[in-house]
Amino acid sequence: MTDDDVQDPAPARGRLLPADLSYAIALFVAAAVAIAMAIAQQGGVLLAQDVDTALFFLIYGLFTISIGYPHPHFGYYSFDRVSQVASILVLGPVDAAWINGLASLIYPWHRLWKGASPSEVLVASINNSGMMALMILLAGLLYTSLGGPVPLQALTGGNIALLLVLVLGMQVLNDVGMLGLLRASGGSPRKFFNLFSVGLELGSAATAVLVAIVFNVMDAAVFALLLGVLTLGMLSMRQFAFMRYRLELLVEERTRDLHEKSLELERQATQDTLTGLYNRRYADEFLERQVGLGAPPGQFVIALADIDLFKQINDGHSHATGDEVLRRVADIMRKRCRNTDVIARYGGEEFLLCFPDTRLEAATCLCEELRIAVEREDWAPLGLRSKVTLSFGIAASGPDATPGSLLAEADDRLYSAKRHGRNRVVA
Ligand code: GH3
Ligand code: MG
Ligand code: MG
Repeated sequence: MTDDDVQDPAPARGRLLPADLSYAIALFVAAAVAIAMAIAQQGGVLLAQDVDTALFFLIYGLFTISIGYPHPHFGYYSFDRVSQVASILVLGPVDAAWINGLASLIYPWHRLWKGASPSEVLVASINNSGMMALMILLAGLLYTSLGGPVPLQALTGGNIALLLVLVLGMQVLNDVGMLGLLRASGGSPRKFFNLFSVGLELGSAATAVLVAIVFNVMDAAVFALLLGVLTLGMLSMRQFAFMRYRLELLVEERTRDLHEKSLELERQATQDTLTGLYNRRYADEFLERQVGLGAPPGQFVIALADIDLFKQINDGHSHATGDEVLRRVADIMRKRCRNTDVIARYGGEEFLLCFPDTRLEAATCLCEELRIAVEREDWAPLGLRSKVTLSFGIAASGPDATPGSLLAEADDRLYSAKRHGRNRVVA
């Protein structure tokens, strides 16, 4: 992982969060103190004995950080592990720590030219520098203290075990550091860790062992050939990772589109387009489910409501006026019913209202309220000379009720309301 990782866990990208900054400073200071102590213990060696080699690894460090690719969910990855592990195995942990720390300190600043804010780059720079240097130093010192050879010149049984300690140690330290950063900036670890990126880091570490051995035992031409081959490999890997990234984005986008479309289709399949209420199909299914649930007798109530003399409205005004009346009646019902009630346009000017967990008396009261509200609505703006009224037939679910019997009962009462002069509720 590299400097750019630091940007993404922050919930507000581009803003300098105090948590990020203090965490980055703490890491940086810890790394600087640890390196100073290690140098003092080693007898005051400040620079690698071989300045050319130190310079080479600084440049190679910068180069491997620059061959990066975006992680589908989080930040940016690069092949910096190759130069980090190789430099430990060539120069030892202390020199490797400051050289790679320096590379991580320098690298993020190129982003200023890409428009990143200086504070953002500063946090990335000191955070990654501190984290990389600490990780390299601690894992490297563990490796050498267990007897791991520097410079590494051959792979033997014992060496391999120690190299595994080094590589896994770095991975663990890196992940612990990233967890700390995620915690400090409120990011989610769930999206951060995945097999692909961990596999790539470990693969980079194995590559680094090869780089170190070839550097230590072969001549410069063979080493240059290896670097060339590896660069080609890294570039193709990056190409592949970009492809994977774009594919994942595409799949995510398509999945989101499909989900939205299926929600829309679902909505269309259950909605009445004129009023926005549920349609008959949905109401029938709901009724089936509700009656099938075996609600306690009298706790599930339905009402059929029918607009009185609606044909006269259509005939006396226009079909469009009739449609507007339907919409307004639907609005009144929607506003006054609970969210758990299901209101559907059941036929032309007929509505089915379902009241779960409701007693007959309460449902009757509500229907009475709806009846009065419709009657009192100001219909003059629609050009109507007389008021609009509704008739209701109500039925409560009994022990042997079926959707059909319930509807038939409500329909009987609705027609009774019509026969008795309309604009009334019959329960
Ligand atoms: P009643 O009081 O007995 O219910 O009389 P009514 O006139 O309301 O009943 P009828 O069944 O005779 O007429 C219903 C009318 O509803 C006939 C039909 O043209 C009209 N209608 C049905 N669907 C729609 C619609 O979507 N928009 C409009 N504007 N009218 C509709
Ligand atoms: Mg009618
Ligand atoms: Mg009717």
